[in-house]
Amino acid sequence: MKVAVFSTKVYDRKFLSDANSPAQHELVFFEPRLNRDTAILAAGFGAVCVFVHDQVDAPTLELLASRGTRLVVLRCAGFNNVDLQAAADLGITVVRVPAYSPYGVAEHAVGLILSLNRKIHRAYNRVREGNFSLDGLLGFNLHERTVGIVGTGKIGLILGQIMKGFGCHILAYDVYRNPELEALGGKYVELPELFANSDIISLHCPLTPETHHLINAEAIEKIKPGVMLINTSRGALIDTQAVIEGLKSGKIGYLGVDVYEQESELFFEDLSGEIIQDDIFQRLTTFPNVLITGHQAFFTAEALHNIAETTFANIADVEQGRSCPNEIRAQVSA
Ligand code: NAD
Repeated sequence: MKVAVFSTKVYDRKFLSDANSPAQHELVFFEPRLNRDTAILAAGFGAVCVFVHDQVDAPTLELLASRGTRLVVLRCAGFNNVDLQAAADLGITVVRVPAYSPYGVAEHAVGLILSLNRKIHRAYNRVREGNFSLDGLLGFNLHERTVGIVGTGKIGLILGQIMKGFGCHILAYDVYRNPELEALGGKYVELPELFANSDIISLHCPLTPETHHLINAEAIEKIKPGVMLINTSRGALIDTQAVIEGLKSGKIGYLGVDVYEQESELFFEDLSGEIIQDDIFQRLTTFPNVLITGHQAFFTAEALHNIAETTFANIADVEQGRSCPNEIRAQVSA
C-alpha cells in the first residue's frame, strides 16, 4: 500500500524502513504534521500514518477521503487526536498500536520519581560547577510510602509492580479493577481517598471527557500536603494553572511531567534558539521541584521496533481484508 507517513523524525524513518524491508509498502516520509493544511500531501495515498500531535479532525479526514485515503494508521496508543465518528462516516478505517512500551513508560515514571525525590537533576548541575553542598538535596525513603495509581491498565500495573519492589504501599483508582494489581496487594479506593492518603500520585488513565483536568483546584484541595504528582499519560489530565498555584502554596511538593496540555506547540522540536511564548510552561520551568521531559517516556529502542512491527501488521490486516484487532471505532472509549 502507498502510505504517507506524517510527523517523521530520523528515528521514525529508520525503524519504519527497517520493518518494511524487503519493501512491502511504498512509504513516503513527510516531516510536517498532518492537519487540514497538509492533508493535500496525502493525495493518492491509500493510508496515512500519524503520531500523537497530528490533527486528524473532521475537516482533515474529509480532505483525505476526497483524495482517496481509506486508512488512518496511528503509530501510538492514544487516539484523542482522531475524530472517530467522522472517520466512520467517511468510511475510513482507523488502527492503532495499543501497547508498545508499557515498561518504558512505567520505568520513565519511576525515573521522574527518583530524580525529584533525590534531586538528581539539581545535584548533576551542582557537581559540574564544583558545588558539593548537600543543602536543599534532602530526600525521603520510598520504603513504606504510599503510591496512588490512577488508571491501572498496562502501564499503571507495571508501575505498581516496580513500586512494590521499593516496599511501597499501593492505592489504586480505575473504572475497572485489575485483579493483577489486587494480587500485588494494591487496594482500590475512591479518588478522594487516594488523593488524601498518597505520598506520590501517578496518572496512567487515558484522556477522555471524564478525565480532562482530573487534577484541578478542587482535587488539589484534597491531596496530602507535599504530594509528589507524576503525569506520563496526557497533559490535559492536569489543569496546569491550578497545579502552579498548588506548587506556589507548597501543597504540591514535587511535579514530574512527561506530557503537557499545550505540548503540541513545543515538544519534539528544537526550540532552543527561539523565544517560547507559552508563559504557563515557562513558569513551570522555574520551580526547583518540577521536572519536565518532552514526551519521551515511550522512547526506547524496543518501543520503536514494536511500533513499526505492529503498524505494518495492522496495514496488512486491513489491506488483506482480515479483521484487525487494533482497529478502533467511534463507540470504543479511549
Ligand atoms: P491501558 O488502556 O492499558 O490502561 C488505561 C487504564 O485507565 C484502564 O485500566 C482504564 O480502565 C483506565 N481508565 C479509563 N478511564 C478512566 C477513568 N475515568 N478514571 C480512571 N481510570 C480510567 O493504557 P496504558 O497502555 O496503560 O496507557 C495509559 C496512558 O498512557 C495512555 O492512555 C496514554 O495516554 C499514555 N501513554 C503515554 C506515553 C508517553 O510516552 N508518555 C506512551 C504510551 C501511553
